[in-house]
This record gives sequence, C-alpha cells and structure tokens, in this order.
Amino acid sequence: MVQKTCVPYGSDVSAGTYKCADCGHIYSNQSKKSLPPCPKFSSASHPKKCWIILSGQGDAPNDPYPSK
Ligand SMILES: [Zn+2]
Repeated sequence: MVQKTCVPYGSDVSAGTYKCADCGHIYSNQSKKSLPPCPKFSSASHPKKCWIILSGQGDAPNDPYPSK
C-alpha cells in the first residue's frame, strides 16, 4: 500500500528525517541539501545505498524519534 521512497546517497533533498534503508540509522537533515552516505556505510552491509524518507516532502512522519 504505502510505498516508502528510497533516496540514493547524494540526492538533492529538502530538510527532513531519514532512515538508512540498510541499517536503520536515523539521520536528521536540517540544512544540507544533499544526502551523505550513512555513517555506518560499508559496501558489504549497505547494498541499497539509500535513505528512506521519514518526514518532509509531504510524507507523514511515522516514528521520527524512536526511543532507543
Ligand atoms: Zn546505514
């Protein structure tokens, strides 16, 4: 039903909260206009190389701040 958008590293985006599609790392993009690689990136553990949009660009925030 709801398809999560997966945005590749380096894509131009607006401010928002993103989650690594590979490891689940939460990244809050406040000012930058392009997405960096995940800080935990390695080619072995990160085959998707993209971020899932949690908030921003009209996508309703689901769980932007997991209590973990
Ligand atoms: Zn990651």
